[in-house]
Amino acid sequence: MECRVLSEKPRRASVNDTVKMSLLCEVDGSCPLCRRDLVVKKNKKNVRVFDVAHIYPLNATDHELAILKGEVRLSNDIDCEENFIALCKECHKIYDTKKTVQEYRQLVEIKKEINKIKELSKLWDRQTLHKDILIVAEKIGSMDERSLDNTKLSYDALKVSDKKDDTFGILNEIKVIQFILIFFVPIKEALKDLEKQEKAKSTFICSQVKSYYAVLLMQDFRQDQIFEKMTEWFMTNTGIDDRSKSEVLVSYFIQNCEIFSEC
Ligand SMILES: [Zn+2]
Repeated sequence: MECRVLSEKPRRASVNDTVKMSLLCEVDGSCPLCRRDLVVKKNKKNVRVFDVAHIYPLNATDHELAILKGEVRLSNDIDCEENFIALCKECHKIYDTKKTVQEYRQLVEIKKEINKIKELSKLWDRQTLHKDILIVAEKIGSMDERSLDNTKLSYDALKVSDKKDDTFGILNEIKVIQFILIFFVPIKEALKDLEKQEKAKSTFICSQVKSYYAVLLMQDFRQDQIFEKMTEWFMTNTGIDDRSKSEVLVSYFIQNCEIFSEC
């Protein structure tokens, strides 16, 4: 039986600006329920048009207590950032007055994804990837069509279909297959060149890639998310400014067993 102290007044933490900005960034500036922009331009000024909502209600009504009974909670403390989410004013009003268990679960899932990404950046804030992978990226970017034609990998050598699962998506698969067929051999050569310059350098890079993949796996990311996160990691850690080049490198490491694989 739920017990509520009658004398306890509804309280609400005053949410400071830093927390508000962090909540806004978490949802990429748009309402997670209706995708409406949470910052709009008014008289050439950016105006925030969102509320900080409690995912699990702060002063739950009897109805809310009943429908949310036994549901997962994001935090023991209801009035803290882990239980907050930025919503547009309309969605917030509906959520607070006509809450359904489906909406509650939806927000819990959204916030869980956000928390996974936050955890990841905490774990890997200072994790770097050897900068010389940039040399490899530049090399593949400078190759012409003819030289790429001569180094194509055979279709039979592809390993992608053995490794990918349903979460990877057909578009990613097609892209990765094409990148592997065209760029696998030249990248392998470029990594061998690095190895000649300094013993174990390419081995070191491969193990860094494998470790980062393991971290993503531990955080329970799906394959499409892993592909995206790895692509971003290559970019931010090496100064590669072209997303496609970074995707080509990630594709190489899928074929070469560092990613999506136990080998
Ligand atoms: Zn909304």
